[in-house]
Amino acid sequence: MSYLNQPDYVRYVCNCGSLKPISKTYFCRHCSKIRCGYCVCQEIDTHYCPNCMENFPQTEARLKKNKCSNCFKCPCCFHTLSTRAGHVPFRTAPQEGEDSKDVKTTPKKFYYLFCSLCRWTSRDAGIPDQSVATGGWPEQENPHISRISALIDYHRILASIEKQQCEKKFRAKRPYMHAMFTITSAMVRKRIGHPSETPAKNQSSDQPPPSVASEDVDELPAEIFTDPVDITKITTLEQRLQHLDVQAEKVNELRPQHREYLVRRSQRCRVCEHSVSKPDLCPQSIKFKIQLAAFYHVPEVRIVTCEPLRPGKASELLLKFCNPTRHQTQVTLLSLDTSMTPVDVASEKEDSKQENIQQGSESPNLLPSIVRQVSITEEIKSIKVNANADILLPHASLILPPRDDTAEYDDTGDTHNFQDDPKLVVWRKGNKAVIKLHVTPHENSTGGEDQSVIIGFVMQYGHVNTITTLEHKTPQKLDLKVKLYLTVGNIVSNV
Ligand SMILES: [Zn+2]
Ligand SMILES: [Zn+2]
Ligand SMILES: [Zn+2]
Ligand SMILES: [Zn+2]
Repeated sequence: MSYLNQPDYVRYVCNCGSLKPISKTYFCRHCSKIRCGYCVCQEIDTHYCPNCMENFPQTEARLKKNKCSNCFKCPCCFHTLSTRAGHVPFRTAPQEGEDSKDVKTTPKKFYYLFCSLCRWTSRDAGIPDQSVATGGWPEQENPHISRISALIDYHRILASIEKQQCEKKFRAKRPYMHAMFTITSAMVRKRIGHPSETPAKNQSSDQPPPSVASEDVDELPAEIFTDPVDITKITTLEQRLQHLDVQAEKVNELRPQHREYLVRRSQRCRVCEHSVSKPDLCPQSIKFKIQLAAFYHVPEVRIVTCEPLRPGKASELLLKFCNPTRHQTQVTLLSLDTSMTPVDVASEKEDSKQENIQQGSESPNLLPSIVRQVSITEEIKSIKVNANADILLPHASLILPPRDDTAEYDDTGDTHNFQDDPKLVVWRKGNKAVIKLHVTPHENSTGGEDQSVIIGFVMQYGHVNTITTLEHKTPQKLDLKVKLYLTVGNIVSNV
């Protein structure tokens, strides 16, 4: 895991050229490559309410304007409101303990909304109490609703015309698709009420009247200059922005707001379109169906300590390597100019990519291609970081045993017996090992004191591709390479 809320000291270079800590990268098992946030497509799986945890498909969420119809948030502090029962309307709120007793003894119950954080109640706003606990709370009408719906309708028509024009270009390629799914121009014109064949001309008549700027503004009330301002009765900017359609000025005009939905997203590799992260659809679950985070597949590097760094002088650097996989791996450190030659599955991968393109909507995932984001592969950026120190890399490779969760609790010592070079490996336990390296900052580093020293190397590690075992083949062993940049410390004064 990388450091929380701290600068990223150890950064892995993604295939697109961006530098990310290991906790922010994925590992695509199909491409056998690291994928960062730019190299994956984000897809919304489900919308859910963070309070009642109900989930909705996208169409339903859109109809409900991405807001939960059952849950409300406080208009003052945005905390979730709870429903309270009381027996007489416009009475002071009953105490916690009295609540259930009251409910039993009174013949008729009334319900109101209550914020347990700032103690706002719906009675403060003058909202009448309800006789049912589930709600039926009056909705506040948007004063501009007719104008907004006219504009939405107009833009919907424009969108369908545009879509139809766009699909005209592809008609030759997919004649059957066109007949089945597209809206013909005649259909659109009929919908707008235009019989003729000149849509461009007639569009303007259907257009809602444009908004006109006016200089006639109502005069300010006279008392605004004389009456003292009571800040407690005026809404804050945040409160107004939470309720954009009304933007109430006074606190007593605030109305409870529906709680907005949150989404669960899944990530898909842009190159091969396989999922790299897919959460469980159930909003209560914190599990993942697929989670190919890089820290489950790529050896993690951590900086243990580094001696004070002085230009031209070698300092000792201790690095800890950790193998997260269930297979033994061999880590070799190579210099930065090592070619990052593609792994030996390259040809096979190219083939599968070609297949996906040909199959179109029949690609490995089951989503239709219309729903899916068109995958655009991230352009390869040049790496902006320059290493300003030399590092003496060991010639020997480091063998890391597979991860064994029980080894964490085993104090009997290491059962593995590796013939390590004591000058290189200084510590070893389970799947982790600490190695000693020497860093020499460049003499001509211009930054002077407090300049951060960056080293870089290529880490080659053995990776076992277990996907092939599913296809009844022997697991494929690959040697993968990843470039790393480490910020090991700052130059200290030469005293
Ligand atoms: Zn990337
Ligand atoms: Zn809800
Ligand atoms: Zn509140
Ligand atoms: Zn991939």
